Amino acid sequence: MNPNECPMCDAGVIARYRVNATGETIQVCNECDSVWEATDELPAPATTTVEQLLAVRGLPLLWSQLSAVV
Ligand SMILES: [Zn+2]
Repeated sequence: MNPNECPMCDAGVIARYRVNATGETIQVCNECDSVWEATDELPAPATTTVEQLLAVRGLPLLWSQLSAVV
């Protein structure tokens, strides 16, 4: 199994993003928006979603809040 394959939806690819407002790095599925901590070993159940993560921090629910980490 591809380690970057999403265990939640089996369709998406997981990539690292930085939350612009907080500077924290997270892992995000590009298909179902599942989110893992940067240090989480995958595959594992997702800890949250992009929508929940932004809402908890009081940020707008926009992908522009995240920057791809290359
Ligand atoms: Zn997914």
